[in-house]
Amino acid sequence: MEEKTVNGENEIVGGLNFVEQEIVKDLAEGKNGGRLNTRFPPEPNGYLHIGHAKAIIMDFGSAEKFGGTCNLRFDDTNPQKEDTEYVESIMRDIHWLGYDWEDRLYYASDYFPQLYDFAIRLIKEGKAYVDEQTSEQIAAQKGTPTEPGTNSPFRDRPIEENLDLFERMNKGEFEEGSMVLRAKIDMANSNMHFRDPIIYRIIKTPHWRTGDQWKVYPMYDFAHGQSDFFEGVTHSICTLEFVPHRPLYEYFVKELADESYCPRQIEFNRLNLTYTVMSKRKLLQLVKEGLVSGWDDPRMPTLCGLRRRGYTPESIKDFVNRIGYTKYEALNHIELLEHSVREDLNKTATRVSAVINPVKLIITNYPEDKSETIMMDNNPEKPEDGKHPMPFTRELWIEREDFMENPPKKYFRLSPDKEVRLKGAYIIKCTGVKKNSEGDIEEIYAEYDPETKSGLPGSDRKVKGTLHWVSVPTAVDVEVRDYDRLFSVENPSAEEGDFRDLLNPDSLVVREGVKLEPWAAQHAKPGDHFQFTRLGYYTVDPDSTENHLVFNKTIGLKDTWAKEMKKS
Ligand code: ATP
Ligand code: MG
Repeated sequence: MEEKTVNGENEIVGGLNFVEQEIVKDLAEGKNGGRLNTRFPPEPNGYLHIGHAKAIIMDFGSAEKFGGTCNLRFDDTNPQKEDTEYVESIMRDIHWLGYDWEDRLYYASDYFPQLYDFAIRLIKEGKAYVDEQTSEQIAAQKGTPTEPGTNSPFRDRPIEENLDLFERMNKGEFEEGSMVLRAKIDMANSNMHFRDPIIYRIIKTPHWRTGDQWKVYPMYDFAHGQSDFFEGVTHSICTLEFVPHRPLYEYFVKELADESYCPRQIEFNRLNLTYTVMSKRKLLQLVKEGLVSGWDDPRMPTLCGLRRRGYTPESIKDFVNRIGYTKYEALNHIELLEHSVREDLNKTATRVSAVINPVKLIITNYPEDKSETIMMDNNPEKPEDGKHPMPFTRELWIEREDFMENPPKKYFRLSPDKEVRLKGAYIIKCTGVKKNSEGDIEEIYAEYDPETKSGLPGSDRKVKGTLHWVSVPTAVDVEVRDYDRLFSVENPSAEEGDFRDLLNPDSLVVREGVKLEPWAAQHAKPGDHFQFTRLGYYTVDPDSTENHLVFNKTIGLKDTWAKEMKKS
């Protein structure tokens, strides 16, 4: 944990965060007959992002941990914004994270009949009324937290009239926005959510599941708690912005059921990540306006974007575990997420050789027709992963940055008359270069020392630098997509003005003609993770074809965050 203990709600006790502690306590007290049933309630109006992953890990993870169950419930109460594309992507992403709802797939739209009946009951009991004012008028009467609101002129209309109007609202007799159903609670309540909240509005767009059966749709506050209740949810865990909604949540459940059982709402802090935005509205805008290539653009904080970029479920879970669940809003550093993926890929990614910015190296004393097979470690962290073959030849690609004609002191890479080791192979000494008419280096010449082959007896002569390389005749040209932060400021949501103006114009650099060793090219399948020696972690993109491999740079090797953590 980054934060030191400040108060009980942020304290880890027995390895459990405050939400888990509450669950354990409820179970120990035998609440709800000792049942634990959580739910994850996405609205299918966008793709899931890493913030949702934090909620999913809590909802599904705590059920898993304490022998309970977790429902997946689509909160599909607004047909204007929802789509099956989103439903499918949400299911795919939850499965990818490693969770399963089994036979507990629900839709808020399944409860439309019960919710409608409940609304009718409230009207009949004089606890709801149809308001014909505009949304502006209603907002103007809300008052402020310190001043009471003003009653609507429609507040005391007769029950019969309310019933008639609400039924006709649902038949489609009135225009969208012309009237709403409000709960009649208390226009002076210190909790603004109690000031006669709107519970139903007219929407005429057909619903993707219920078609044009309904013309009125319940608001979040009127659907959520009741849906939890219908499903027998015991713990309704959500983010802090719902704290002020909790009394209303409990009010409606009590009105509905008049029983001792009420699902318990517990709130934790949202995940917010630096250099990106988490609002679904803004993410949708980026997609719609073509400012990114789609929801799964590898720069997006969406789960499908992170997956395509090369993030693993393990790395996301590790990150969420590190930031923890508290009652404090925080801005989480993207470097910590990067640290998690680096650690995970370090354990699993196969090491291969690729040269990003190639220049030709010719070993003049190596026979032209000769080729050797060098066996390279697949992962030095895991000897059991074995080795793979890599051809060594007279002509090799090395990185342009690994050669300097006039090096400064302490430059341990290649320069005239200096020695380096070619990784897994021989020590070479630079003997000269060839330049074009512009003075750019076209070829570098060197001689190798046959007595220095790695792994052979007597080959342990030390030189300071080791370079990666790829054999010229067998190298495969691939495309590499290099990414930087999506936004150029740390917290785009906190800035004034249009968030799109804060996009980082250099967040994508496409490099063609990257030289990849042949074994890697033969084995690379979309989604595979590799470590390109000395460069970073790269993941095969689904845009790859048989003749054109595309790699996304997941993350570089250098971890500034690990250093920071050691210091603190
Ligand atoms: P909307 O503005 O459309 O409601 P939303 O991000 O809240 O956006 P939902 O589909 O309602 O989207 O979210 C499903 C669940 O995920 C909710 O319970 C919500 O609390 C949780 N969630 C959303 N964003 C985050 C976040 N950044 N961190 C943690 N949990 C989140
Ligand atoms: Mg929401």
